[in-house]
Amino acid sequence: MTKAYAAQSPSSPLAPMEIERRAPGPDDVHIAILYCGVCHSDLHTARNEWHNTIYPSVPGHEIVGRVVAVGRNVRNFQPGDLAGVGCMVDSCGHCHPCREGEEQYCETGFVGTYNGPLFGGENTYGGYSQAIVVKEHFVLKIRHAEADLAAVAPLLCAGITTYSPLRHWKAGPGKKVGIVGLGGLGHMGVKIAHAMGAHVTLFTTSPGKIEDGKRLGADEVCISTDAAQMAARANQFDFVLNTVAAPHNLDPYLQLLKHDGTMTLVGAPAEPHPSPGVFNLILKRRQIAGSLIGGIRETQEMLDFCARHGITSDIERIPMAYINTAYERMLKSDVKYRFVIDMATL
Ligand code: NAP
Ligand code: ZN
Repeated sequence: MTKAYAAQSPSSPLAPMEIERRAPGPDDVHIAILYCGVCHSDLHTARNEWHNTIYPSVPGHEIVGRVVAVGRNVRNFQPGDLAGVGCMVDSCGHCHPCREGEEQYCETGFVGTYNGPLFGGENTYGGYSQAIVVKEHFVLKIRHAEADLAAVAPLLCAGITTYSPLRHWKAGPGKKVGIVGLGGLGHMGVKIAHAMGAHVTLFTTSPGKIEDGKRLGADEVCISTDAAQMAARANQFDFVLNTVAAPHNLDPYLQLLKHDGTMTLVGAPAEPHPSPGVFNLILKRRQIAGSLIGGIRETQEMLDFCARHGITSDIERIPMAYINTAYERMLKSDVKYRFVIDMATL
């Protein structure tokens, strides 16, 4: 049996539970988990905010650990290696998106690291646990220094969820990029967009985060609740990445975009945003888009990009038993900027 932490219902706090992991098959990698980041999606799921949670629910999809055993067909990992697991542990492997390396858009639905396949099927248990068994294709190489491992874990979701759209919409030199929300995703977005060479503006509701925003790589910080600061930046941005975890008015952010600019939503609040005013879209042919994590190949590319640029997450390391307090603090935006569970405390 494997020790884990689980929610038994939307209203029960997470608590210890023993789970069973499958015996590693020929294509599997068996990983002892060292660290697991705490994503806002974990909280949405533990509390059934997306109305699809299968209980008991063991969240966690920002996993870094050490390989303890591999199946006979596994070529790229051996016992003792460091390994990462992100948001997916399987997909159909043969639809068009899977063949293109975009397993997150698998037409039959990828299998989430927790909460099972998107379209029904057996539940899966995530990284708030001692160990996990994952198909080699979904296991990532970690090339950061050992000392940084806890701070690498959040790259597996927060890192790829911001890297992928920044790449897709071509953030780089000469581009003006806005990052909305300085939480787990947002702080990775600021670091990565800066490393890509874009001019980065952070939009935050929290005046207390101005200095941090600059330290993390923002060229400018705008308090998004200040209409005058927002108006001064209207019609300038090529791309805005919106990471906010709550429903909010999208119009002030759309007005930041220049002609043909795009705002991409990665935040996934349970309730809808109030609809955008159409004139904000049609007058400048602005676009609203969405983006889901990133494929496995791109996740490896992101990890290697971050290792090359010395990028990790800014974290607060916590013991497993602190998770319920961590969720409450996350709801108050009181985390700089990602909680990471030290699995030795489980
Ligand atoms: P987080 O750490 O809680 O950060 C969210 C940030 O949004 C907060 O720090 C805050 O930043 C801002 N914010 C919160 N409430 C707000 C409000 N009412 N109005 C304006 N800003 C507000 O969450 P996270 O882990 O980064 O996740 C963010 C969202 O992305 C969640 O919904 C999560 O489920 C989703 N997600 C999506 C994907 C994907 O593939 N698309 C992947 C992972 C996570 P400021 O204090 O700076 O304003
Ligand atoms: Zn996540």
